[in-house]
Amino acid sequence: INKIGVFTSGGDAPGMNACIRAVVRTGLYLGKQMVGIHQGYQGMIDKKFSNMDSKSVAHIIQQGGTILKTARCMEFRTPEGRALAYKNLKEEGIDALVAIGGDGTFTGAELLSREYDMPVMCVPGTIDNDLYGTDFTLGYDTATNTVIEAIDKIRDTAASHDRLFFVEVMGRDSGCIALRAGVAAGAEAILLPEKETGIDDLIEKLEAGADQHKTSSIVIIAEGEKNGGAYNVAKHVKEKFNFYDIKVTILGHLQRGGTPSSFDRILASRMGYAAVNALIAGETRKMVGLQGNAMHLTELTEAINNHSFKLEDDLMEMSYILSL
Ligand code: ATP
Repeated sequence: INKIGVFTSGGDAPGMNACIRAVVRTGLYLGKQMVGIHQGYQGMIDKKFSNMDSKSVAHIIQQGGTILKTARCMEFRTPEGRALAYKNLKEEGIDALVAIGGDGTFTGAELLSREYDMPVMCVPGTIDNDLYGTDFTLGYDTATNTVIEAIDKIRDTAASHDRLFFVEVMGRDSGCIALRAGVAAGAEAILLPEKETGIDDLIEKLEAGADQHKTSSIVIIAEGEKNGGAYNVAKHVKEKFNFYDIKVTILGHLQRGGTPSSFDRILASRMGYAAVNALIAGETRKMVGLQGNAMHLTELTEAINNHSFKLEDDLMEMSYILSL
């Protein structure tokens, strides 16, 4: 391996820049040429390559987003698209890749690698923490901290006005952010995609809180939960329970941005460093991950084909008891 290309793909996540920095500087240290590929797979097709030296990744460890940009690329899903991408990579002299993204990104990397015998190493970058083979994905800790900060602020106004707030957070299939943020912010109830909570059950919890003389409450709702999101839940609760004035807040894309937490910066650095070292050691088609505070490699096919359920069962029950 002489020239390694690095790119970010799929949804952006805080910590991606710290990981790019680690990949570039580890590769340079090991005597490799490093190339940034802009806008993920689209950049391979459009030849958006730039040589990266140590300075090109200076002062980015603390920045959210990704300096290499990210994109969703339909063309790369076709054999013709991947053929063009490979031709361009070859012309550029890139003979190995580090991909930072989610399972869609991994699927693209796995296909390209198999079809053209290109060594690839993947890094799990997504705020949802829903990937197999790693205890934590890049960006998850920062996103959870962002949610907690927002809920702390919402609680101030909820308490001042005696209100019930339904706060919707990101997580179409994964309730990881909702659960951890709920525990850390002391939410009275948490609704997750993985667990069905009926409106009557929720009302029962809220009534229990009211019986304990609570004058305000916060309910966290993961966007993929089964009752149809925060506005629907609020509507149904309002029909049967009017102890509080009810408000809804959707946190939305602010959860994706912001300066990465120390946890994400360190995780990103470890993962980027491990990815390049694994490539140089002859590994390919694997994902680097954190398992029990050590770096592990998982076959990409295994990472792609297994859904990860990382919800800590004890947190759910505990969160309710601790909020009473
Ligand atoms: P996130 O979890 O944040 O959505 P992701 O990596 O799963 O991240 P996707 O949009 O699913 O995001 O995938 C990123 C890109 O990977 C796609 O735009 C596409 O270019 C490529 N990709 C995804 N699935 C495939 C596939 N089946 N075959 C080839 N390429 C794919």
